[in-house]
Parts: sequence; structure tokens; C-alpha cells
Amino acid sequence: MNAFQWTEATSLEQALAQLDGKAVLKAGGVDLLDLMKEHLIEPTRLVNIRNLKGLDRIADDEKAGLRVGPMVTLARLDADETVRRRYVALADAAGHAATPQIRNMATVGGNLLQRPRCWYFRNEQFHCKKKGGQTCYAQTGENQYHAVFDNDPCAIVHPSATATALVAYGAKLELTSGKGKREVGAEDFFILPKVDVHRENTLAADEVLTEIRVPAPPANARAVYLKQGEKESHDWPIAEVAVVMQRDGEQCRSASIVLGAASPVPHRAKEAEAIVRGKKIDEKVARQAAEAAMDGADPLTHNEYKLPLFVTLIRRALLTAASPEGGR
Ligand SMILES: Cc1cc2nc3c(=O)[nH]c(=O)nc-3n(C[C@H](O)[C@H](O)[C@H](O)COP(=O)(O)OP(=O)(O)OC[C@H]3O[C@@H](n4cnc5c(N)ncnc54)[C@H](O)[C@@H]3O)c2cc1C
Repeated sequence: MNAFQWTEATSLEQALAQLDGKAVLKAGGVDLLDLMKEHLIEPTRLVNIRNLKGLDRIADDEKAGLRVGPMVTLARLDADETVRRRYVALADAAGHAATPQIRNMATVGGNLLQRPRCWYFRNEQFHCKKKGGQTCYAQTGENQYHAVFDNDPCAIVHPSATATALVAYGAKLELTSGKGKREVGAEDFFILPKVDVHRENTLAADEVLTEIRVPAPPANARAVYLKQGEKESHDWPIAEVAVVMQRDGEQCRSASIVLGAASPVPHRAKEAEAIVRGKKIDEKVARQAAEAAMDGADPLTHNEYKLPLFVTLIRRALLTAASPEGGR
């Protein structure tokens, strides 16, 4: 790891003033320090925003919805009573990520902005497309954990569980720079490699993520988050799904169905959403929707196994969200 200068930012203004294109923000540091140790980034200055006051709040309003500061840790998000009661898919996404130790350090902002875990990207020996090279080594290499949708020109999967849940909830992100604030839908924030292969989102170098806003779910809404790991351990998912369903009695009025570990961005299963809209969700409809969610999938040489896995998770999530006692 290169030598670097360390700066403490105790206010947002101080943090913004440091963002000169060379400094890098450090929240929990879980991903950032990995990237530095792997020589993927070599910043000359780290700005510690971990102790920055005011960006670590959770506030919920019955009508306006939830506001989460980016410095809130995954452990707090998981344990927060209101988040668990009203935004259970977000609480579960945070609570199933990584290990208790990591969740205590990791912030939700850092979780959304972490870099992908593709082993070719993470290994400094592979000068892949994401790092400015000419080759995506996953296309013909060890691609069992890679994307089954939108996997050209780069086959990473988006690493953030909270992103999967937040896109399903229709969340918005507030980004602040010295010039002011902008609000962007979580779904639009994350970008595909065909838009820009070098980055995963539209955060500008002079911006700080300052708030996550989740619309208040209607009283009849139900949400579910399911994660499938390769083993019951502290690992990223091989497939995950978040469903937020609005119900009308026994019918599904509408649902957003978002897949994680499927694509370089949280992947909206729009064909499945169209099938469940206005229907009573039974086993047949849930299966039909889950199978339709795989339309357009283009698995690589070693990851076709993900397709039936996603079908099972989506079917389960839909049936749970539709059941009288399921979701919240
Ligand atoms: C063994 C292991 C298992 C894991 N499993 C999972 C999993 O199952 N699911 C999952 O989702 N994640 C998983 N993770 C990833 C982990 O959750 C993230 O690394 C962590 O959330 C990053 O948060 P952080 O606060 O440490 O971010 P940092 O490492 O401090 O920052 C990450 C990036 O975000 C930027 N950043 C942070 N905050 C801001 C902000 N407010 N504004 C602008 N830029 C900002 C930093 O500059 C940096 O580029 C796992 C990690 C490990 C090590």
C-alpha cells in the first residue's frame, strides 16, 4: 500500500472542500482498504468521513417516508425497529450482508458505492476492461459468479445488497457537491458497462452521497428480500431478489421485482412485473412470472445454474409477499 495523507472531516463542508479529484472518501473503509491493498487505487489522501456528524441519522415519517444517512451502518439498519417494521426488505438486505463484524463497520453509503468483487477486476495481474484493458477475462474464464444479464462488455455483478432492496422500493439518493444538491432515482444512479465500463454509478468526483430517501410504503404494501449464498457463511449472494408488492385485497395491484447478483446493476424483472400486475398470486402465476423474469438472460459458460435458482427465489418471494402473513 502506498503512503497517504490522512484527513479528518468533521463537517460536510470540510469533506467537500477536500474533494479535489485526488482525495478519496473513507467511510467504514471495508472496501476502500481492500482496493488499496490490492493496488487498484492509490490515493495520496484519504478523507475520513466516518465521524462526520449529521450523516448518520435514520428518520421516518408516516407519509414522507424514510431518510437514511449514508453513515448509518448495516448493523444499525438491520436492527432499527422502524426500518424492520416498515421497510423489511431493506433491513433484511443489510442484515444478511457479510458478517456481524463487517456490518458493524460497513456503512450503507459505502455499501452502495463499493466496487465489484469480480476476481479478475480485484486481481492486479489482470488488466481487464474495467481497468482500461481490452479484455473481459470473465467472458471465457471462471465466470460462475458473474452476470447472466447485460454481461457484455463486462460481466461483473453489482455487489450491493442494499442497492437491490432500494431499487425495489423506488428509493432516491441525494448527492451533494460544492455547487449544490441533486436527487437521482436509485435505479438511474447505477449504470451498465455499455454506458461506461470503468464505473458502476454516476457519482461525480466532487460529490458526496448525503441521504437515501425511501418513499413511504402504502399500508397494503408487502416486501420481501431473499438471498441465496453458495454456503451458509459470510459471502456475497449467488442470487438475491427483492420484491415490493402493493396489494388490493387478495390481488397484486403492482410489484417491483429486482434481482441482485444477476447483472452489473440491480436488475428490474419487468416481464415478471407485467405478469403479476392485477392478478391473484398463486403458485401458477408466481412460477409463470419467475420464468418470464429470465427472458433475455444470456448466461456465460459456467453460470447457467443461476437461472433455475432465480426462478425459485422469485417464485418464493412473490408467494411470500402475497400471503396474508408474508412480508410487511
Ligand atoms: C467478507 C465480505 C463479505 C461481504 N458480503 C457482502 C454481501 O453479502 N452483500 C453486500 O452487499 N456487501 C457485502 N460485502 C461488502 C461490504 O458490505 C462493503 O464493503 C461495505 O458495505 C462498504 O462500506 P464502507 O462503509 O466500509 O465503505 P468504504 O470502504 O469506506 O467506501 C467504499 C466506497 O464508497 C465511497 N463512499 C463511502 N461513503 C461515501 C459517501 N457518503 N459519499 C461518497 N462516496 C462514499 C468511498 O470513497 C469508497 O469509494 C462484504 C464484504 C466482505 C469483506
